[in-house]
Amino acid sequence: MTTIPLQLAAVHSRLQAACQSAGRPVDSVTLLAVSKTFGADAVRAAYAAGQTWFGENYIQEAVQKITELRELPLVWHCIGPIQSNKSRLVAEHFDWVHTVDRLKIAQRLSEQRPAHLAPLQVCLQVNVDGGPTKSGVAPQEVLALAQAVAQLPRLRLRGLMCIPDPAPDFEAECALFTRARELFDALSNSGLKLDTLSMGMSADLEAAVASGSTLVRVGSAIFGARHYPA
Ligand SMILES: *Cc1c(COP(=O)(O)O)cnc(C)c1O
Repeated sequence: MTTIPLQLAAVHSRLQAACQSAGRPVDSVTLLAVSKTFGADAVRAAYAAGQTWFGENYIQEAVQKITELRELPLVWHCIGPIQSNKSRLVAEHFDWVHTVDRLKIAQRLSEQRPAHLAPLQVCLQVNVDGGPTKSGVAPQEVLALAQAVAQLPRLRLRGLMCIPDPAPDFEAECALFTRARELFDALSNSGLKLDTLSMGMSADLEAAVASGSTLVRVGSAIFGARHYPA
């Protein structure tokens, strides 16, 4: 647990270096700490080192943690796939969702967002690899989905998210991230007011920052290797 502050500092150094080589201001990229499979203690340790944005994949696990840590001023991001029967939990407990990829889920989240909470902040997950089995909206359908989601009263559309397949080298990583960046620019040029491009993880955050990411989602580089229950 004592290694979390050190590993968090190391990630900040990587981000700083990546911003520098890209000629971008250091504060143009936000770090989301992905705490899935780690307990509330790990989140507390990261929070004590200054981290306030956390990402979770598994809804039930997340809701437990969010409830347990209610007294801390944390911002919770859902970055896992959302099944319809879990949308209410997401709408009631999270501040952000990065994984909206169809209108039906967006409509449910908007309907289920409690009135006393701020609008749910949303990114659309886009399938930049184009594989038919991957989650995420197809690139050619992003604009229509974005325009529909932007109309929903209890959601606020913030941008795009992607999880490209691992690529063989830096240039190949950048090529996929750049597709997301170009879609982001196209949506912005169509008049949507967006500020978030969620891309980059422990292994490829440098390429993501070089390609215009504004938010990197980093888990293992901060918390260590994950152990999934058998
Ligand atoms: C687990 C996960 C991450 C973090 O991955 P690391 O390789 O541990 O940094 C980022 N984004 C999503 C969507 C994830 O599921």
